[in-house]
Amino acid sequence: MQAIGVTRSGDEPELLDVERPEPAPGEALVRTLRVGVDGTDHEVIAGSHGGYPEGEDYMILGHEAVGVVEDGNGSGLEAGQVVVPTVRRKPDGETNEYFRRGEPDMAPEGEYVERGIVGDHGFMAEYFTSPADNLVPIPPHLAEYGMLVEPVSIAEKANDHAFATREPFQWRPDAACVLGNGSLGLLTLWMLEQRFDRTYCVGRRDRPDPTIDIIDELGATYVDSRETAVDEIPDAHEAVDYVFEATGYAPHAVQTVHALAPNGVGALLGIPGPWEFEIDGGRLHQEIVLHNKCLIGTVNSHVEHFEDAVETLDSMPDWLLDALVTTVATPEEATPAFEDDDDQIKGVVQFDTL
Ligand code: NDP
Ligand code: ZN
Repeated sequence: MQAIGVTRSGDEPELLDVERPEPAPGEALVRTLRVGVDGTDHEVIAGSHGGYPEGEDYMILGHEAVGVVEDGNGSGLEAGQVVVPTVRRKPDGETNEYFRRGEPDMAPEGEYVERGIVGDHGFMAEYFTSPADNLVPIPPHLAEYGMLVEPVSIAEKANDHAFATREPFQWRPDAACVLGNGSLGLLTLWMLEQRFDRTYCVGRRDRPDPTIDIIDELGATYVDSRETAVDEIPDAHEAVDYVFEATGYAPHAVQTVHALAPNGVGALLGIPGPWEFEIDGGRLHQEIVLHNKCLIGTVNSHVEHFEDAVETLDSMPDWLLDALVTTVATPEEATPAFEDDDDQIKGVVQFDTL
């Protein structure tokens, strides 16, 4: 079957001819419909994040997928069901407390593999197999955009964890700011629009730009970080109750604290490499303490976040989904889905349709 992957000897995605996987007991065989590409895939391709499955000289890419069950194989799933796979799996042949509790997203590094990212093949192939517990059914009318369930689930988890920290008191937030106008940032901006009176989104681009058009259309305020640094947002606009960082730009982790209103919370999602810069540690420490501020880190998501994400996706307007998916490529000519210029928001490789 056709698959798109990276090989140890290459530095670009390649069309591979690999064997169709056979489902083990408890696993279903899934026919792939669409697979999305995001910043993480670019890091995997560049070799700065993730790693090959043990003993293999290639890895099939792709962790944002939607497919249709081809063979339920006695797993409890029926042929024809539309499903979205979760990403984290037990390290080969083992389990650990995080997986037993259904919280693989809380497992520390080394205690999991991630399909298409670290240690296991992804979903960018005509077929993939998966244990049924890692396949989340979705309504067939969402199949076209089902590859967005995974990135939305990342935001569901981050928001859950962040808002849970504000539960011990009467938090009355009304302004939120997303850092980053990539696909994760824009999906999250829509979600925050539903619950905050005022929203901001930080980028570093000139108009006209398709991501700024989306920010405008959503009714959010675009903030250009080249003119207004994140810690200047309180002076330029207002201090915000929630910051969702999706840039991977390390100074934003610190600036987030200064952008927050008293009692605010910031969720950090970016994954930068080593990055040294100077900060006023005293001011940072004091600001967090004297204003009851909170900063959380969050990665990955589990089945319940996927289920929440299915509902969220179902309520997103069609114009937004259309605007986010900027390229639908074929496996034979997948390169356009991996292009990463300013016109690209979410590239997708389509293997089949329902
Ligand atoms: P993208 O690379 O598509 O988006 C990042 C965006 O941030 C880009 O639009 C970029 O702008 C913008 N940006 C970067 N630096 C700045 C800056 N200094 N000021 C303003 N804007 C800036 O990635 P994704 O949307 O896919 O993901 C966002 C981040 O979240 C990435 O760092 C990714 O690694 C991480 N991630 C984390 C997950 C988790 O579980 N924690 C899961 C998925 C992603 P421009 O394009 O103009 O350069
Ligand atoms: Zn992703």
